[in-house]
Amino acid sequence: MKDYYEILGVSKQAGADEIKRAFRNLARKHHPDVNKEAGAADKFKEINEAYQVLSDARKKQQYDTFGSAQPGGGGFGGFDFSSAGGGGFEGFGDIFEMFFGGSQTRRRGGGEDGSDLRYDMTITLPEAFAGVEKEVEIAHYTACQTCKGTGSKPGASPTKCTACGGAGQVRRTQRTPLGAFQQITTCPTCQGAGEQITSPCSTCHGSGRIKSSHKVKVKVPAGIDSGYRLRVTAAGDAGRRGGSPGDLYVFITVRDDPRYERQGADLIYKKVITFSQAALGAEVTIPTLVGQATLKIPAGTQSGSNFRFKGKGMPNLRSRGHGDLFVLVEVETPQNLTTEQADLLQKFARLRNE
Ligand SMILES: [Zn+2]
Ligand SMILES: [Zn+2]
Repeated sequence: MKDYYEILGVSKQAGADEIKRAFRNLARKHHPDVNKEAGAADKFKEINEAYQVLSDARKKQQYDTFGSAQPGGGGFGGFDFSSAGGGGFEGFGDIFEMFFGGSQTRRRGGGEDGSDLRYDMTITLPEAFAGVEKEVEIAHYTACQTCKGTGSKPGASPTKCTACGGAGQVRRTQRTPLGAFQQITTCPTCQGAGEQITSPCSTCHGSGRIKSSHKVKVKVPAGIDSGYRLRVTAAGDAGRRGGSPGDLYVFITVRDDPRYERQGADLIYKKVITFSQAALGAEVTIPTLVGQATLKIPAGTQSGSNFRFKGKGMPNLRSRGHGDLFVLVEVETPQNLTTEQADLLQKFARLRNE
C-alpha cells in the first residue's frame, strides 16, 4: 500500500508549503530529464501521484480518512495522472515557453534541419536570486550571407540531380545467392535533395552555411536552480536547403554558495554563537541576499534552534513570492579557558547545583 506522506518524506502534520517544497525537491531529483537511472520514471510518477493528492485539500482529506485503499476500490474523483506531466509539474523542458514565449512548433521546411546545440552555463547564487541576462558566444553554422543559404552563386540556381532525376532516391539491385533484391536508398549524388549545385557559391562552397561565432543573449529567470535548461529557439545550427535551424539549449548550474545551503526556494544559513550569547540572549547580524538582517536571539536559546526570515529566500521560479531564509543556530562550547574563566564556570556550576 502506498503511503503518500512517506513517498514525499513529510509528516502527516506537514502543511501545504512543506508538501510543495518536498515535492519540488524530489521532482527535481527524479525527473527523467535529469535522472537517467532505471526506475526514475516510475519514481517520478509516484512522487507526482502523491503530490496530486496531498496538494488538493479535498483529495487529501479523503486520503487521510480512507488511506489508499478506497472504499469500492475506485480512484479519487477527477484524478488524472496524465495531467501531472503538464499541469502540476515544475517543468524542465517546458520552462522556455514560460519565460520566453517561444513556440513549440517548428516550421518544417524541406531540406535538412540544423542541429541543436548545448551550452553549459554556471551562475552564482546571487545571479540565480536576481535573474540575469548573459551573452554567450556560440560557434555555430549560420546561413551564408552571399547566397542566402541556397549554396548557389548569386543568380544561378540548382539543377535537377542527374543521378536520381530529382527524386532524391535511387533504386539499387543487389544480387545475392537467394536472388536479386531491389533496394531504395537515398541518392548518393545529391544526398536526397533532388538537386545539384552546379555553380557553387564561392563563400560557402555550395554548403549554404558557414561556421562562425555569434553572441547570443540568454535570459536566465530569477529563482532558477541547477538541472534546469533553457531553450533559445533557432540559435542552434542553421538548416540546409531550406531546413529549420536547430535550437540552443542552455544547461544551468548554480554554483554552491559557501554561505548558504539551498533547498528549493529556501535558504539555510548556519550561525555559530557563543555560549554566553545563547544563555543571555544577543543581537546578531545575518547576511541575506538583499543585505544584512538583524536576528534577535532570545536568552536561553539551544543549539540547533531555527529562526525564520520569511520571504528572504530564493524567488519561486513559477509562482509569485520567495522562499524563506532559515537561520540554524549552533552554540559553541568555550575552549582553552583561562584559570579565571574556569573558576567562574565552576562557581556558576555550584550555583546551579550541577
Ligand atoms: Zn553561400
Ligand atoms: Zn540525386
